[in-house]
Amino acid sequence: MKRALGYLWAAPASAIGFVFALLALVCGARWRVTRGALECAGGELGQIVNALPRPFAFVAITLGHVILGVSAEVLDEMRDHEHVHVRQYERWGVALLPAYALASLWQIARGRAPYTHNRFEREARERSGG
Ligand SMILES: [Zn+2]
Repeated sequence: MKRALGYLWAAPASAIGFVFALLALVCGARWRVTRGALECAGGELGQIVNALPRPFAFVAITLGHVILGVSAEVLDEMRDHEHVHVRQYERWGVALLPAYALASLWQIARGRAPYTHNRFEREARERSGG
């Protein structure tokens, strides 16, 4: 029951992720379901995202129960970390998106790195062991 509520609560964010996953699929990405989340990896969209200038480039991103990665190898390495983000979406729902952005802005205002010091990223690193 708790897990079902988590899926429901995170569904708006998952829907956004699903749109990107569909776009990635059209561009050659592959899908698979792991630990109750849809993983989408590879394809041309992944290569484009990976080639973006910092701070826009990323190797993996989680939107609800959808995890997008530049390659299957990256997702193998990042799986534990990204699943901490899945749990965050199950707690925060779609509100995680503005909360994450505000947490990054708060770190910038304090002169710190918006990704590294973001509370949601710190939690993901701590709970995934790195
Ligand atoms: Zn993260």
